[in-house]
Amino acid sequence: MTGDYLVRATALDGKVRAFALRATELVEEMRARHDTFPAATAALGRTAMGSLLLAAASLKEEDQLLTIEIRGGGPIGRILCTATGRGEVRGMVSNPHVHADSVQPGKLNVAGVVGSQGYLSITKDLGMREPYRGTVELQSGEIGDDFAYYLARSEQTPSAVGLGVFVTSETLVDAAGGFLVQLLPGLSEEEIVAVEREVAALPHPTRLIRDGLTPEQVLGRIFPAGFELLDTYPVRFSCPCSPERYAAAIVSLGSDEIKRIIEEEENDYTEVVCHFCNEKHRFSPADMQQILEAANG
Ligand SMILES: [Zn+2]
Repeated sequence: MTGDYLVRATALDGKVRAFALRATELVEEMRARHDTFPAATAALGRTAMGSLLLAAASLKEEDQLLTIEIRGGGPIGRILCTATGRGEVRGMVSNPHVHADSVQPGKLNVAGVVGSQGYLSITKDLGMREPYRGTVELQSGEIGDDFAYYLARSEQTPSAVGLGVFVTSETLVDAAGGFLVQLLPGLSEEEIVAVEREVAALPHPTRLIRDGLTPEQVLGRIFPAGFELLDTYPVRFSCPCSPERYAAAIVSLGSDEIKRIIEEEENDYTEVVCHFCNEKHRFSPADMQQILEAANG
């Protein structure tokens, strides 16, 4: 498969679940939409890929939704992503124009913009009455480790997570990808040690994807004895917002608030910007009158 895609696999007789993805195009699209500076691009891209991997691992139905929020106290503010079981993801950061000096030469200081004093919170809307929620304290602010800690701590599944985004000197996304490996009950101590050894021996995920490894080849590195491919599907940036959805949201503000907006805008267009995709939705004065009538019932 070309472009961005995700593979789902098992290994060691089904006692290990593994997922890997290439997401270069969608992370570049997020960068372009939000005009993120390099470290913010990497933070948002890693969170978006982690969301897709976790959605692949935990959503059973295509219409279920996973939301990830990271607040680490760093200059980026809040990172928020949502992913569906269909491989669609969207995301935003509070402050896209942030920078932190590199600690290691040539490596973006992701933890420097995210911060490491805060939490990672996951909400899964599985179509039940109450969504599932889990929150853990951030461990490093590098995001991959934080996802792994969440899975071990909150879902009791020992996991390895690798997420990498490479940004060029022109600040464009040149490569983005990652993997998630989950150890299930029933593995022997030797098998656990063997998987952990292969994961620890991997170069940084950014290196792997820059070297042009496909998601299947990344899994091949982790499982030299082989793995069973279950599923492959495309992943992409997608935001379900539309003028109709925003019109409905404005109706829900109530007629007093809508009147206030109409007075404030006078004869100008009312513009609403979607925080997830940065698309502008514009409503003419005539549209706003219709919305007001709808609010009046
Ligand atoms: Zn949108």
